[in-house]
Amino acid sequence: MPTIEKDAVASVHYTGTLPESGEVFDSSEGRDPLTFLVGHKQMIPGFEEELMGAEKGERRTFTLEPERAYGPKIAEAIQQIPSEMFGEITPEPGMTLMSDVGPFNVVSVDGDTVTVDFNHKLAGETLQFSVEVVDVRAASEEELAHGHAHGPDDNEH
Ligand code: ZN
Repeated sequence: MPTIEKDAVASVHYTGTLPESGEVFDSSEGRDPLTFLVGHKQMIPGFEEELMGAEKGERRTFTLEPERAYGPKIAEAIQQIPSEMFGEITPEPGMTLMSDVGPFNVVSVDGDTVTVDFNHKLAGETLQFSVEVVDVRAASEEELAHGHAHGPDDNEH
């Protein structure tokens, strides 16, 4: 029976919770399972590490420290920028906006100064995952060349 290893394509159902509050931050419940090519940086590192060797039908629950999840919160990623840089947009706390270097969150607005945070929303968080392996198969040559898994109706490339 194929197991989860580098260059396998795994399909999993998962629920991610923040262990301290019990808040579910992401789940595949009610959706198609998540399918990914193992070992090609599609997932956070600890998620794949904890699933290595798992077979179809197996369930695993594990906890990832920030270092194996979205990394620590970086102080330098919190910056103050002038509100005029937002152009047409009126920044408000809690907004997630896109920039040339990725998404960021508006932390606070103080007159013409806007404090923004480029850290991933889950940076610095310990994450708990409950995962059920729905399928494991070998990747096709095309998937390996592309560096990602292809779904059943993925005809775009
Ligand atoms: Zn592709």
